[in-house]
Amino acid sequence: MRTIGLNLGSNLGDRREMLSFAVERIGTLLGCRLRVSQIYESEPWGYQSDNPFYNIAAEFESDIALERLLDLLQQVEREAGSLSHRTADGSYADRSLDIDIIYAGSEVVATERLTVPHPRMDRRLFVLKPLQQLSPRWRHPVSGLTVDEMVAALESEADSERKGAVDC
Ligand code: ATP
Ligand code: CA
Ligand code: CA
Repeated sequence: MRTIGLNLGSNLGDRREMLSFAVERIGTLLGCRLRVSQIYESEPWGYQSDNPFYNIAAEFESDIALERLLDLLQQVEREAGSLSHRTADGSYADRSLDIDIIYAGSEVVATERLTVPHPRMDRRLFVLKPLQQLSPRWRHPVSGLTVDEMVAALESEADSERKGAVDC
């Protein structure tokens, strides 16, 4: 058994309801209980939209193969009525439910369909902040950084960008 960490996000419809539906449904399909963080609200990342996100981290213990887990998570996204998360030109789009696999113990996967740990996790406070509540000392198997260290690095980068903007 290893611990699996997910990030769930919603910026369309009843965001809180989307997240609690997903947590309940994943628990039922996997037959296990999920630990969940508080909700983290943030502006859309990587594209423009007026609809802010709610995100949470969720963790559970399982032996499930990650490809099968991805199938199951995409089924839950569809059940929640989530349409494509990309526009015709490939950029991000608003979504009622997005569920990403952030990590699975210390496994490293890089296939066409799946990259774990999630390749952009260290650039996203909406992933790191909720995860920090559950597993601050989880260590990234490639970079060697803990969640606490990734948060500190990203926050200090954001701080110096803000200061830079004032100086100019
Ligand atoms: P991002 O990956 O930047 O958060 P997104 O969540 O909006 O973007 P989606 O359109 O939801 O992207 O998913 C695109 C594809 O990403 C999925 O079909 C899936 O095959 C792939 N994918 C690769 N790695 C992962 C992962 N760790 N968790 C979930 N999906 C993944
Ligand atoms: Ca995502
Ligand atoms: Ca996704």
